[in-house]
Amino acid sequence: MSIIEAKNITYLYSDGTKALDNINFKVEKGQIVSLLGKNGAGKSTLFLHFNGIFEPENGEILIDGEKLEYNKKGLLKARQKVGIVFQNPDDQLFAPTVEEDVAFGPLNIGLSQEETKKRVTDSLKRVGMEGYEKKPPHHLSGGQKKKVAIAGILAMNPEIMVLDEPTSGLDPKGASKMLKLLYELNNKGMTIIISTHDVDLVPLYSDKVNVIKNGTIIKEGTPHEVFDD
Ligand code: ADP
Ligand code: ADP
Repeated sequence: MSIIEAKNITYLYSDGTKALDNINFKVEKGQIVSLLGKNGAGKSTLFLHFNGIFEPENGEILIDGEKLEYNKKGLLKARQKVGIVFQNPDDQLFAPTVEEDVAFGPLNIGLSQEETKKRVTDSLKRVGMEGYEKKPPHHLSGGQKKKVAIAGILAMNPEIMVLDEPTSGLDPKGASKMLKLLYELNNKGMTIIISTHDVDLVPLYSDKVNVIKNGTIIKEGTPHEVFDD
């Protein structure tokens, strides 16, 4: 059974743009899977379905085999299991300090101050941002902001982490460090889904690659299957 699956998802924006057209996409537990496609292919739109931020026109999202329900309870459950790191960290970071930002999710789901503090410390350490607790996020570099955004998701302890273009805007060194972090998290058992517009290290090191074009998955398989023909 897949840990997460998009079945026949179609999505239209309010201006009539059909951003997703009958998408099928599934990920097995513990995998690292990439979604490769040009700008405008539909990557962000698909990702925003994985924890119910977007509700499809047609089709369904299954998490652990269970259909995502678009009510308060269903959405809360989905958001605890699936953490999404947006492409632009400025869309995600809004608290006055790094530690308050990372603490926001855990406090929001009702965890104690003590448990929250522990999660904030652990998550910042995992992304290599310990020591930045009191800094305002908007003073950080792009790469540092991405790491804090990831820490905020890690602090929620999700089963699945979805990252929209996590290496975009980073220099090659920053990008390779980012990937190293994601592989470490994957090695510890987290299921990871990453989008990219580049045939870079991300797809090559994935368990599976899905290629999206004009809102449809046009190829799917291991990197070997997808790139060697
Ligand atoms: P919806 O109502 O489906 O959320 P809107 O049309 O209200 O979408 O647009 C939401 C945001 O996305 C707005 O800021 C808008 O400027 C931007 N936007 C609109 N059209 C596009 C497009 N084709 N590509 C990217 N962004 C767009
Ligand atoms: P990607 O993440 O692969 O760059 P998107 O999911 O952002 O692709 O966009 C998919 C399609 O939907 C594109 O045609 C884009 O212009 C359109 N789109 C994105 N956001 C909006 C919006 N808010 N309103 C209308 N169209 C949009």
